[in-house]
Order: sequence, then C-alpha cells, then structure tokens
Amino acid sequence: MKIFIKGGRLLTGERADVLIDGGAIVALGDVDIAELAAVEVVDAAGLRVAPGFVDGHRHVWQAPLRGAGADMTLPDYFDAVLDRALSVFGPADAHLATLLGAAEALDAGITTVFDWCNAALTPQYVDAVLDAYATAGVRAVVAYGGSLSDTATLRRVAELRGRVTGALALLGPQYDSWETAVDQLRVARELGLLASMHFGGGPDAPLARMEAAGLLGPQVQLVHVNAMTAEDARRLAATGTGVTVTPVVEATMGHGASPYTRFAAAGGRCGLGTDVAVNAPPDLFEPLRETLRRHRAETGTMAPAATVLPAATADSAAAIGLGSVTGTLAAGRRADLVLLSGLSHLTGDATGAMVTALGPADVHTVIVDGHIVKRDGRLIGLDLPKLRDEAVSLGRRALEGPDLIGHGHAGASVR
Ligand SMILES: [Zn+2]
Repeated sequence: MKIFIKGGRLLTGERADVLIDGGAIVALGDVDIAELAAVEVVDAAGLRVAPGFVDGHRHVWQAPLRGAGADMTLPDYFDAVLDRALSVFGPADAHLATLLGAAEALDAGITTVFDWCNAALTPQYVDAVLDAYATAGVRAVVAYGGSLSDTATLRRVAELRGRVTGALALLGPQYDSWETAVDQLRVARELGLLASMHFGGGPDAPLARMEAAGLLGPQVQLVHVNAMTAEDARRLAATGTGVTVTPVVEATMGHGASPYTRFAAAGGRCGLGTDVAVNAPPDLFEPLRETLRRHRAETGTMAPAATVLPAATADSAAAIGLGSVTGTLAAGRRADLVLLSGLSHLTGDATGAMVTALGPADVHTVIVDGHIVKRDGRLIGLDLPKLRDEAVSLGRRALEGPDLIGHGHAGASVR
C-alpha cells in the first residue's frame, strides 16, 4: 500500500508532500500523484512533517515500573529493579512489558527503540520479546544480554533483518575483566552485531587501551560516559564510536553532567535515550530540552535550539548503526516519520519550536516502516490503556519483589 502525505510542512517551513511505497520514502517535496487509486492519502494540512524520534537507549521491559523510583539512587535501582523486579519477570511478563513500553514509545513519536534488553536472557525470553516487537510495529534493535555461549540464540539475533534487528548488550571493559570484554567484542564483530555498553569514561576508563586494540569504532556504542574527558571525547569522535546519553536519568540519579557539550567540542555528535521509566518520562522531548538548557549553560551561548534536534533523530540513529536506515527524511530512507500538531500558526522554520515547545500530546500521526501506527492522536493496533491495565499486577508483583536469596538471576550481573 502506498501512502501519500499531503499538504504538510517540513520543520524548516517548506511545504512538502511525502510519497511512501514499500515501507520507504520514495518522494518528498512537491509530489505529483497521477494515479490516486490504491494510495492511502493522509491529510497533513496544518501539521509539520518530521523524522520520528530514535531512542538510542531504553530498557523497554521496565515500562510496568514507570514512576516507581522517583528517589532511587543508582545502587537502589540495581537492587530494586535489576535484581529484585527483573527476577519475577517470566517470558509472558517480558512480552507484555515490551508491548507496553513499545506502545508508550510510539505514542510519544518514537519510531525506533534500541532496547537494552536485560530481559532477553534465554531463548524463551528472546522469543517473547521478538514476538512482542512483531506485533508492536515500532522499529527495534533488540540488544541481547544473555549468555554468549548460547550460539543458537546468538545466531538468531544476528540474523534478524528488517524492522527488528539485533545487537549485543555487554558489560564492557570498564565493568568487566579486560580479557572477557575483548573476547565478547570479538564475538560481536564476527557476528556483525553492534556492541552496546554502559560506560563511565574518565581517567580510569580503558579508552586508550581500547583504541590501541582497535576496539573502538561505529560497531560500538557507549552509553552515558558522564566522566568523559577532552581526551576521551577526541578518541571517541576520531574513531566514530557511537555515544548515547540519557540526560534526564543521568541528572535525576546523579550519574554526572551530560557529556553532550564536551563531545560536541571534539566534533562528536551524541544520540539521546530515555533509559529507564522508573524515574523519567517515556519520550524524547524532555531529554532534548535538558540537553539544550545544559548546552546553553555550559557554553554561555544562545546556541540555536534547532542544533540539538539531530541528537534525537539522525545522530541517535547513527550512534546505533542505523544512520543509513532512519532518522532523516529523505528519499530512500525507511518511512519512519511523525506529523506534529500545535504549530499550525507558524509558517516559517519551526525546528527550534519543536525542541522547546512541543510534547507527546502534539504527536498527531506516527508512521513506521511505511505503516501508520498512530493516527489523529490515537494508536492503531495497540490499546495503550488496556496494556496499562494488564500490566498493573505485574508492576505490583515486580515492585514487591522476592527476597533474592536463592533466586540467582543472570540479569543481576548485567547493568
Ligand atoms: Zn541503561
């Protein structure tokens, strides 16, 4: 089915129609459709057409725990969420939680999630999560965090193609032994999988050693890096290593200041993530604004608001290896886009307005891979209120949590 988005404006102000065919953007601008039969027309009059948000770091399974950790420190989070709460999740729970997290993401205009999937630990859990994404309609990168000696599951994750692809969620050399990390990064490279790691950075981080060993580059994504030094920034930018920051969670839990400005000073371009729902909203509007405010404060300038938007779109896609697939409105890219309301009174460039003044309620229509998943403000296919109702008992069970003694869980070692 072809989709013709008619009469909208780009964020920059130009009038632009969009023709979508086979899940891809095939024409953009002043598009002439000779044959309107067999074309679904979406009226975008008064709406802005923008690339969908790319959430470069999200623990999607935590959606049923939303808001439960407003005052959690990082050690509290490790104990209550990654140890106790995760240990009550069975595969069916992981399925429901993934559907709920994906629905919340789509509702907020997030068309791609990089799911740092602590819950994808065994073949049964991987099945459950992949099954959820087959239904959910969001573009997803499922980062497998289970055993690397399970070669069948590894191969399965590596062979995913299309809207749902795979990656590896690793502890990495800052939190694991050097030998183990090197071995795991070799496996990732052999399988052609992006390796994603939480990373602190700073004088104690083994970035020089990683660079010397050829372990940095676009096949690697480091998350947070709040202690990033100027030398770290130079190394990461020079090697094209993906860097994703989650500034709302980092500020809320005390990880340290976002390295966005330090990385930008070295020519690097951060992607953004929502990270955890226990203490952060499930959208990327808030991380964008947090980034803009801190960037202006740190640079002492009125850096244009529009300059931070790529951190939630094109640069975020690049940091997770999807820069040629999504994050940009251009012919040939997959059709992942949003139509935004709330700015119909503006006729000129509204890119900065999107960063400073819009929110999830302005996400009118969402298209992923050429499929309409939200229209006129309502999700299609996923019933968000129903999913929330279904997840209530799971959330309660997970938060009450068992005493972990005797409940050894592989997830406990994966941050
Ligand atoms: Zn994380």
